[in-house]
Amino acid sequence: MLISELKNPCTECDGSGYIAGLDELGTIQINLRQSCHVCSGRGYNLTELGQDMWKLYKPMVKDLISMEMQKKSE
Ligand SMILES: [Zn+2]
Repeated sequence: MLISELKNPCTECDGSGYIAGLDELGTIQINLRQSCHVCSGRGYNLTELGQDMWKLYKPMVKDLISMEMQKKSE
């Protein structure tokens, strides 16, 4: 399976995670870098397959993390 099947570059911000915008404040122009509202600044969105995979693996990842935490505390 390819990682590109799990996520798509965001079309809203072209994968940059930010939307460039100019705001005029008086005579000064401020260059705004706003987080993309579509991908929340990640620059990509999970595909349907990616979301299914994440749901499937999330409990396993959590288990792995808690196992590592236990090892460290021993
Ligand atoms: Zn985006």
